[in-house]
Amino acid sequence: MPAEGFATSAPVVIVGAGAAGLCAALAAHEAGVAEVIVLERDSLPRGSTALSSGLIPAAGTRFQRARGVNDSPALFASDISQKAHGEADAAIVERVAEEADSAIEWLADRYGLPFSLVHDFDYPGHSQRRMHGLPSRSGAELIDRLRQASDESAISLVLNATVSALYVDGRGRIGGLDIMRPDGALDRLGCEALILGCSGYGGDADLVARHIPEMRGAAYFGHPGNCGDAVRWGEALGAKLLHMSGYQGHGSVAHPHGVLVTWAVIMEGGFQVNKSGARFADESQGYSEEAAIVLAQPGGIAFDIFDERIAAIARQFADFQQAEACGAIVEASTVADLAARLDIPVAALAQSFAEVEEAKSARTNDRFGRSFAGASPLLPPFKAVKVTGALFHTQGGLAVDAEARVLDLRGAALPNLFAAGGAAAGVSGSRAGGYLSGNGLLTAVVLGRLAGQSAVRLVKQRK
Ligand SMILES: Cc1cc2nc3c(=O)[nH]c(=O)nc-3n(C[C@H](O)[C@H](O)[C@H](O)COP(=O)(O)OP(=O)(O)OC[C@H]3O[C@@H](n4cnc5c(N)ncnc54)[C@H](O)[C@@H]3O)c2cc1C
Repeated sequence: MPAEGFATSAPVVIVGAGAAGLCAALAAHEAGVAEVIVLERDSLPRGSTALSSGLIPAAGTRFQRARGVNDSPALFASDISQKAHGEADAAIVERVAEEADSAIEWLADRYGLPFSLVHDFDYPGHSQRRMHGLPSRSGAELIDRLRQASDESAISLVLNATVSALYVDGRGRIGGLDIMRPDGALDRLGCEALILGCSGYGGDADLVARHIPEMRGAAYFGHPGNCGDAVRWGEALGAKLLHMSGYQGHGSVAHPHGVLVTWAVIMEGGFQVNKSGARFADESQGYSEEAAIVLAQPGGIAFDIFDERIAAIARQFADFQQAEACGAIVEASTVADLAARLDIPVAALAQSFAEVEEAKSARTNDRFGRSFAGASPLLPPFKAVKVTGALFHTQGGLAVDAEARVLDLRGAALPNLFAAGGAAAGVSGSRAGGYLSGNGLLTAVVLGRLAGQSAVRLVKQRK
């Protein structure tokens, strides 16, 4: 049924009010379309965006220049591609790397989001400091500010509205959709262009088991409402699904508290041991691949070991403050005391400390190949936190082009369907280790903005 066949319709309709959906809505509204409607299943937009640290990588921003960081989109693109082992689509990588700085400055200048650069530690795989965040370094602040911007732009945000079905004509054009209300009532809405911002499939245990067997049964830390609707609809429409085994994991979630402990505690010179007090990996490769490695340790448990200097850096994150407040972070003045408090063998923990400090002072790589170059020695009081690995969000999804148009199996764009963020295949390739920090919000914010612009272009062309 075409859009004209629906009693109510809008030129641009967006499914999901996370970072992708709301950035798409802001961009579409700015591009001058009569009405933009965002449909969100929850009673308040949160999504995985609210659960995140809200950090978005971008190269060449004025926030970097103010800190003396000399970066470029080309270097950023090269870091993304390298981390993804060359698997990510080069055109998308180049486009998102190219557009990220203007997207950050757009949100800052037009909508007043007070970004600043995370300037005091490195993220694995980024050759420059380029993570941008809001004052609390939390995604809750990001989503609240995006929602406020969309309210002020008079974008129609419809809550408690789960999109349950799409209507498609014989040529693959989406004419509209069904909206399921909490009481079971169904509403219908027509559209000229549809943007999927309803994220991935981390909330569907069957899809996770099918596509990401190594995370079967692992704790899922993303938004539970992300149940794979985009990939299910895409499959039915003949869209191409890409890199479905890719995901962002995290190897540092406080256990049993369930609070993210920033990887800064590792990158600044900390390390991980298992219950035997032994190290087991080159932690500096990245927190995403470390999730499965930690889960493979006895009991699926590891301990992050660091010190007060590092804790002071980590405290810029609301999550870390929460971990401290709930007693997850243990402190001790000697290694022996720390081992006793963690209930792990003293000799083995002392050996792990010695190994790390030796690598730091000798400026050599350790036996796992980790370089501690530039890292300060750990000094008392020492800190530690018991952690486990978790699935944060999926990185596979609908194949899109550099305009965020959803592609079919032959690589041709579907007539009026767009996707961004977790709904679209990301730029991380097919493995957890391909995830470069920030790839999640990068493709939500930047592809979301592009999707909004592309959808309006399409609507205007059809007039
Ligand atoms: C703990 C954690 C920390 C993270 N930290 C970072 C970070 O610092 N930097 C980074 O780049 N990435 C991070 N990520 C990843 C990042 O959160 C995601 O990549 C990003 O939020 C995805 O945005 P999105 O808009 O696509 O999805 P979401 O923010 O999840 O939004 C999707 C929305 O769609 C709605 N929805 C789903 N299905 C339907 C339907 N059928 N009908 C209507 N609505 C629907 C959902 O309710 C949800 O509100 C983190 C993830 C987690 C879990």
